Amino acid sequence: MKLLGTLLAVLALAATSEAAPHRAVVVLDPGHGGSNAGAQGAVAGLREKQLTLELANLVAAALRDHNIDVQLTRTGDRTLTLRQRVEVADKLPADLFVSIHANASPTRTQRGYETYVLTAKGVDVDGRALRSDTTTPRPGVADDIAFVLDDVERGAAQWEAAELAARMQKALRDRRGTEGDRGVRQDAHHVLLGATMPAVLVEVGFIDHPIEGKQLADPAVQAQLAAAIAEAIEDQLAD
Ligand SMILES: [Zn+2]
Repeated sequence: MKLLGTLLAVLALAATSEAAPHRAVVVLDPGHGGSNAGAQGAVAGLREKQLTLELANLVAAALRDHNIDVQLTRTGDRTLTLRQRVEVADKLPADLFVSIHANASPTRTQRGYETYVLTAKGVDVDGRALRSDTTTPRPGVADDIAFVLDDVERGAAQWEAAELAARMQKALRDRRGTEGDRGVRQDAHHVLLGATMPAVLVEVGFIDHPIEGKQLADPAVQAQLAAAIAEAIEDQLAD
């Protein structure tokens, strides 16, 4: 008993005297939730909100294994606006914000993965201007409002977001093949959310596509996608 007491005292001393290093904080945002189910999957019963939560939990587990502090914007079937989600990250504050979604197309013929930069202003990635979002028109959004860059901090975050988005595409390409690569994109709607840290939104694939939708329901593919997202985040934080 005495030995155990001494041991505990030593352990307690070690814990308090050790300077706590800054642990990176990442906010993962499982898209949709609650009354907002998101896209309907090709596999009966699989909605986007379920897939995104599954993926976020897998990514969180992988990052926590690497001593990264992870917070989820929702851990259950909750309704949240995109702005509320970004606010979670702004309050912490988080080092990175990653929103996870799955795509759908009106004709159910599109497939592939793409990553959106959520932070303001258009930037170049590898010397190429970001593609604007042409697949999902968002009525009521003025194009020019999004491209006002008003402070240096946000400017840096926006550059890092583009970097993270490029890493996300690369990690997905390594696992899902080059033909599905729809690139890094930016659209006027999302950048208005005002995230103060590097923030991206990854669309992992088309949940309504007859073939890709089935793949997204497969736990092995989900593990693959989660590994890609985790790898991109780890690489970004290590840089
Ligand atoms: Zn979505």
